[in-house]
Amino acid sequence: MKRSRFGRHSGLPQDTENLLWLANGLADSGSRAEDAFWEQKLRAEVETLLNSGSEESINAALDHLFTANMRAYGVLADAIESSAEQTLLPDGREVLLLAAPVQAWSRFSIPATTIPAKMLTNLRVHMQAHVLAEGVKLTLADTLFSPDQLPQGYCETAKFTQKFAQLIPDNQVLHINTALLPETGRFLSDVRYILAAVEVTPGSPLFRWQEEDGTREEAANQWSAQAGACLAPLLTGCATQMVMPDAYFAACRQSDRASRPYSIQASTAFLSTTLEVAPSDLHAIIALFHDHQLEEYRVGFATKDNGSIVHGVVWPLLGPEDDAAEVPGQIEAALKESGIQHITQLDSRFPLEYCDDCGAPLYPSAEGEAVHAELPEDKAEQVPKHLH
Ligand SMILES: [Zn+2]
Repeated sequence: MKRSRFGRHSGLPQDTENLLWLANGLADSGSRAEDAFWEQKLRAEVETLLNSGSEESINAALDHLFTANMRAYGVLADAIESSAEQTLLPDGREVLLLAAPVQAWSRFSIPATTIPAKMLTNLRVHMQAHVLAEGVKLTLADTLFSPDQLPQGYCETAKFTQKFAQLIPDNQVLHINTALLPETGRFLSDVRYILAAVEVTPGSPLFRWQEEDGTREEAANQWSAQAGACLAPLLTGCATQMVMPDAYFAACRQSDRASRPYSIQASTAFLSTTLEVAPSDLHAIIALFHDHQLEEYRVGFATKDNGSIVHGVVWPLLGPEDDAAEVPGQIEAALKESGIQHITQLDSRFPLEYCDDCGAPLYPSAEGEAVHAELPEDKAEQVPKHLH
């Protein structure tokens, strides 16, 4: 056999190769005894890469496994996420980063801003009482973050967790200088995040529902009612819906899922008030858009008596957890839930196109074309320019 000139065949960097070896080893392991070996080595390697800012090596390993071995992909993604959102302090305490997402929509802008001290104290009380197990130590960040303002990438998240974790022993608040945060895009519906760090005591309950008299449902209801009311003064002019707080990556994923039907509901409510029509007088057109890497559904909205597309919503696919065959039915169910009965599913697939001038996605029309959504001119004033 002819030997490769460089010894390795894949062209991947050595630290990526190492991650692949460990993730594949763990995915194929047949016993807990073997698992422990792989897990320990994988965790150590991931932590080294996170601490040295090797985002590219990490992503290269994930990209490779996504097409090569889905089980090993899951194993690696798990290891990376848990190392980024959980950290060990020098005194031996373990700290986990949590997120509490808030879905919101508004005809005006959705604030991403400092949470006043008194409100933060109240949020802390509600999180302690309804979400966390008794006595769990907690610290909060004093900012309502937009998606653009969250730590970008695994290495940044790990750094953020480590900084946040240091405040736990003294019960301090994480002060964020909002002037240094990236600007927030203005959208009709969007998500805001409350971030917290909690101390984990191995073997003891962390969340309220791990206690014998607590349930997830009760926790979700209480958090939604109490924290929702507490935040309301900060989110004037917005309709909101609280998503259950959870470990950072799990909560972000849950929020990505929840924001898809939420943006349909928001769009229906927005169109119905702006155009002064009932939801039953709207027509929604669903189609699949794709290029060689990405697939997403887009929904065009028109009024029943005029076919021009006045608004649109993107329904992204969220990776392996989405069963592609079920998605059109889920979109239709969300539309019906918001009161739209007139729905068209187009069979044709469209290229993933955007407007050359403003970058807005093009949406499907009932005539089977991809078009720019335009509100009637007399209604378009006072409305956020970019909608999603
Ligand atoms: Zn445009």
